[in-house]
Amino acid sequence: MTGNCGICDGECNHFISLLGVHICRECEQDIVNSDIGDIKYQYYKSVIKKLWIDYIIQFSQKV
Ligand SMILES: [Zn+2]
Repeated sequence: MTGNCGICDGECNHFISLLGVHICRECEQDIVNSDIGDIKYQYYKSVIKKLWIDYIIQFSQKV
């Protein structure tokens, strides 16, 4: 099973699924290992926020 990462858009063989979006191992590790003061953390925070918004929109359209 392959897919495109929802964060870096790279093709990945191993990924976790967050809110229906694939996140590759590298991005997952990056998120886990970034500090709160890290610029990357701020970036991922905004990306994940967007995933949530997309997810909520998707969910509300189904109802
Ligand atoms: Zn990725």
